Amino acid sequence: MSEFKLINILNSKKITKEILVPIGDDASILKFGNKNMVVTMDSLNVNTHFSDLESPEVIGYKSLAVNISDLAAMGALPKYALLSLTINKKDRLNWIKKFNIGFKKLSKKYNIQLIGGDMNKGPISISITLFGETDNKFLQRENADVGDDIWVSGFIGESFLGFMKKNNANFKIGNNCLNEFIKKHDYPVPRVELGLKIKQFSSTCIDVSDGLLLDLQRILKQSTVGADIFLDKIPIPKKVKKDCNKNISLFFNLITGGEDYELLFTSNKKYRNRIMHLSQKLKIKLTPIGEVKKHKSLRIFDKDLKKLNLPNKLGYDHF
Ligand code: ADP
Ligand code: MG
Repeated sequence: MSEFKLINILNSKKITKEILVPIGDDASILKFGNKNMVVTMDSLNVNTHFSDLESPEVIGYKSLAVNISDLAAMGALPKYALLSLTINKKDRLNWIKKFNIGFKKLSKKYNIQLIGGDMNKGPISISITLFGETDNKFLQRENADVGDDIWVSGFIGESFLGFMKKNNANFKIGNNCLNEFIKKHDYPVPRVELGLKIKQFSSTCIDVSDGLLLDLQRILKQSTVGADIFLDKIPIPKKVKKDCNKNISLFFNLITGGEDYELLFTSNKKYRNRIMHLSQKLKIKLTPIGEVKKHKSLRIFDKDLKKLNLPNKLGYDHF
């Protein structure tokens, strides 16, 4: 049974008017007086999200980064964190000191205050609840309109390449050694500033955590629309472009691999120039990759506008 179906069993569907965004988005939004509180929770577990040999500094950084990314996708500003830490290492003092170095890199950058948490003994598991705030303009997965452009930030697939390289020193594509992508996998940069800015132009947004295609499909399902995507427009790293064009399954690996933590958003075409302008101002690559359609399916076309079969797996599912 898929992750989506399992979550649906738990979904209470009871919505009070204080819950502006319930279960089903990157974060929930609650109304508190005049303010909107945005809350998300994500966990990283040993042997699922990282190996037992992973550097604690990377784990500290990444466990906060993935949560910040969910708030970025809502157009929210992160503020406070709760940290639940389960650890069974003998040298736990050292481990936690190093974990803290990674965690602090991001908490300092965004001025996020750690306000509590929990500590337990057991196989390493990190769970963070992150609180943020937003004004009355925020981004959900459910308001994409037919005709909207579909945009993505940065490059897609760098994290997949980094993951492959990290787990196999001999991994190569063509003559490229690919070492530089490990950084993108270990230290993804959440797109907070972008989320705060694009919300004035966008109808929906999601962060790409489980794969571009799967996360796009989540927007489509929740907006009850479809999309046409053009493969040659998807921003994959230049170094591997030639090889991906020759090898479609490699291309699909890059756009279903996940952990990109880029923002995928839809915007009315009238905002094209303003989004390009924003891209220059923030120095973040923003690329239109397709269009929201009335038909309800996700379709991908190659450079000759030939419709391609979708890969069996659109992205990462825990189950
Ligand atoms: P993301 O990848 O953006 O972190 P997920 O795919 O993990 O989002 O979760 C999808 C939605 O399901 C989110 O709104 C999340 O809060 C909710 N969710 C996930 N697990 C549970 C759970 N055990 N109980 C209730 N809601 C859950
Ligand atoms: Mg998300």
